[in-house]
This record gives sequence, structure tokens and C-alpha cells, in this order.
Amino acid sequence: MKLRTKLKIAFVIMAIMPVILGAIAIGIIVKIEMNRIRDIYGSTHDYKLSDLYSPSAILGGITDDVYEDLQMLAEKQPQQLTDTGYLTSLSNDLTSKLSYLVVREENNVMFSSAPYSETDLAELLPDGELAQKLGNAGVYKGGKYQAIVKAVRFAGRDGRYNEVYIVTPMRQIIPQFRNLITEVLLIIIGVLALTSFILYIWINRSIIRPIDRLRLGTQNIRDGNLDFEIKARSKDELGDLCRDFEEMRGRLNKSEQEKIKSDAEEKELIRNISHDLKTPLTAVKGYVEGLRDGIADTPEKQHRYVLTIANKVEDMDRLIDELTLFSRLDTNRIPYDFVKINVKNYFDDCVDEINLDLEAQNIKLGYAFHGDETMETMADPNQLKRVINNIVSNSVKYRQPGRDCEIGIEVFDEGDYIHVVMSDNGKGINYKDLPRIFDRFYRTDESRTSPQSGSGIGLAIVKKIVEDHKGRIWVESVEGEGTTFHLNLLRYREGMRLSLPDSQMNTRQGKRRKT
Ligand code: ADP
Repeated sequence: MKLRTKLKIAFVIMAIMPVILGAIAIGIIVKIEMNRIRDIYGSTHDYKLSDLYSPSAILGGITDDVYEDLQMLAEKQPQQLTDTGYLTSLSNDLTSKLSYLVVREENNVMFSSAPYSETDLAELLPDGELAQKLGNAGVYKGGKYQAIVKAVRFAGRDGRYNEVYIVTPMRQIIPQFRNLITEVLLIIIGVLALTSFILYIWINRSIIRPIDRLRLGTQNIRDGNLDFEIKARSKDELGDLCRDFEEMRGRLNKSEQEKIKSDAEEKELIRNISHDLKTPLTAVKGYVEGLRDGIADTPEKQHRYVLTIANKVEDMDRLIDELTLFSRLDTNRIPYDFVKINVKNYFDDCVDEINLDLEAQNIKLGYAFHGDETMETMADPNQLKRVINNIVSNSVKYRQPGRDCEIGIEVFDEGDYIHVVMSDNGKGINYKDLPRIFDRFYRTDESRTSPQSGSGIGLAIVKKIVEDHKGRIWVESVEGEGTTFHLNLLRYREGMRLSLPDSQMNTRQGKRRKT
């Protein structure tokens, strides 16, 4: 839910909920208190919620039953209403109902339990005829004594009319009514507090907490800590903000990790360059000193020294060339010249060229092409040749001493891919070195200690070129048996561009095939 909608709902709840809850609670409390009034004062009055607006109705209602009894007596046994004993007991009853009993005969007070003087009563009590008409509702009399007065006429002696009055003073508030007011006030406060609490929890969960998490996140980033996670729980604007923030943190973290990695690589690069340059340089220095100090005292020895110096210098030259090439590839300073090439023709020519070299070294090269001879790929022919040459020259370089070197190249048609398999029967690579051999400057311990010169850049260059062709390269090897490099290149399809995302690449591992 959007934050804006949440706020709107919050305001509506704030406006409506107290009213609804308050009305329900007040309704219940009023009902309870009214029933208590009925029970306590023995009233038969049917109290309604509207009586709340009229305290006189509540007060007057408590004497309803007495009034009805009086009416009945007036009709059936009027003589009882002149019996002082009866009147005294009735007035006692009325005291518990906060009321007084007054009996008049022709405006003369015959009986009164009210603490008022006769003059005051004359002022307070309405005329008998009028009072009779007013019935159970009684009449409210203001003035000195504010009271509700109910009257019943009954036949007295000699056909005269007498009146019996129930006087309920208004000045008092019955305690239950006072309770009611207090309870209603408490309910209003309670309902408002409950609504505010619910809103507080809601707003706290949906606004304050995400903001707190974001604040903590920014503090972490400020302190350079990018290793945390901000979980977005809601689907509102703050949830979106948390997700964006998390994405930003992820990217920052990634680029930070990459920077750390590249810094470490940079250091390793410098260490490796100095080491790889220093080794031939030390040798050159030694042979030069040998020549200078006359250690090479025969022309043959001198010739050998010079030859070694020339070889070492060549090694250094090659190393610097490879380094330059790698750094230019790495910084994308070598523009590729992608063209459409026929795979079969290309590999046929390539193998012919390599074979000339290998034959001179007595190395067998097996070659086979399987599949559609018309299949094409988009590639830079020169860079692809560099890939093949680097792999083949490694096979030659790392051959198993005492075993005839055999190299195989096979090309398979795999639908959308061209699968090139290049294998040898050389020394093989230890499984622990396999994941790292494409890293720049990585050389296995064995090749470091071997007389074979190398920089550890060759396969890094190979990987970079293959990946720039949107291809994949991987290796399988068994130490002592041989090594197989697998290369997947995208088959050319009409309208295909080389900027296809990596996700479209085949991630299937090729099976090892022996040639
Ligand atoms: P280098 O200049 O050392 O040959 P590469 O990057 O070409 O550098 O190769 C990295 C390492 O991988 C080599 O040092 C070697 O240990 C190992 N390697 C590469 N190709 C082969 C192979 N065909 N047989 C055995 N080991 C190999």
C-alpha cells in the first residue's frame, strides 16, 4: 500500500474510530448505569439513551412505580391515602428514591415528609387540577426549590379533592448519574488513547522503522562499512526507497570489493613483473660478468654465453610484449576487427599453418571437423589465431618428458555453438591449480621451477579474447596424462550482433574427448 494511502487511512481512522468506539462504549455504559439506577431505586421507568440529555427524566423516572401505585390507590382505595401510617411508610420508601411525599387537602398540607415550610410548598406545588393533567411526567418547578413534582388526585372526605404529591428535588445528582459522567469521560479518553496507540504502532512500523533502518545504513556507509543488508518489508514508497538503497549499497560494495581486488592484483602484477624481469636480468648480468672477467675463456664458451644472453633478452622482450598486449586488451585499447568467417575453412588453414611448425619439432597434430561445413562465426581472425597458438604452444611447452608429444584439435557443431576441443598428452595440471590458470601471472609451482620460460599471461590473454567474442573457455586436466581446453564460440545467425548478454551463453560443460 502506498504511503500516501496509508496516511489518508490513518487520518480517516483518527476521525472515525473514536466516534464509533466511543458511541458503542458509551451506549453500553449508559445501558448498564441506567439498569443500575432502575435496580437501586426500584424504578420501573424504561430508560433510553435519549434520557441522557434530560437529567430530569432520569430523576423523575425513579419514582414511576410509586406514582403508578398511588394512581391505583387513588382509584380503588383512596381512604388509604389519608392513613398517616401508610403515608409515613411510603415517604420512607421515597426517601430511598431521593424524593418526598406531600398530601394536600384543598391547598392545606395534611402530610409532608419534605423539609420545606408550608409557604414554600404552596409556591412549589402546582394546582391540583393542573398537576393531575401532567400525569407521570410530572412538572418541573423552578424558583427557590427546583424539583420535579408529580401529583395524583383522589377523592377525599365530603367529596372534596385531595392531592398526593411526589417531590423530587433537582439540586441533587444521583450518584449513578455522576458515575456515568465520569465513566463516559474515561471512555472518551480511553478510546482516544487506544486510537492514538494503534496509529502510533502502525505509523511506527510503516514509517519510523524503515527510516531508522535507512539512517543506520547511511551511518554504516559513512563509516565505510558496506557489509550489511537493508531488508525492504513494505511495498510502499519507503519500501522502494529501501530497495533502491540496498541496490546502491550492493553496487558500492561490489565496486569496493573490485577495487580491493584490483589493488591487490596491481601489487601482485608489479611484484611479478619485477620478479620475471629480474630473473633473466640476473642471468644476463652473470653471463656479462663471466665474459668481462674472462671466465668464458674459449671461443665456444664465449659463443654459448652470448647465445644465452640473447635468449634471456628475448625472454624479456617477449614478456614485455605480452604485458603490453595484455594491458592494451585489458583496457580495451585494441579494437577488434570482427568479421564473418567460415569455421571449417578458418580451422583448416590454421591447422595447416601450425602443423608446419610442429612437424619441424616432430610433434603429431591430429585434426577433425565434425558437422555443418558451412557454419560461420563472427570473430577477429588474428585474435582467434592468437588464442589457438597460445594453447598449442603451451601444449608444446608443458609436454611430458620422455613421451612423444601429441596434440589434437577437434571442432564440433553444437547448434548455436561451435565447440573447439584442444587436447594434449603433456604433464597435465594439478587439480588445485586448475581454477587459477587463467589468472594473469599465475604459473603452477611446477612450471615456475621448470626450465621452460613463461610469464603466466598467455592464458589470461586467451580468456580475455574469448570472452570479448562472447565465448567461453574452460579446462580439464589429469596430472601426468594431459590437458584439454574447451572453447565455445557463438555460431553466426542472420542479424546476430556480438553484444549479446552473457546470460544467453551456453553454460553446459563439455565432455572430455580424446583425439
Ligand atoms: P605461461 O607463460 O607460464 O605458460 P600461461 O598463462 O600460458 O603462462 O599458463 C599458465 C600456467 O598454466 C602455466 O604456467 C602452466 O603451469 C599451466 N599450463 C598451461 N597450459 C598447460 C598445458 N597444456 N599443460 C600443462 N600445464 C599447462
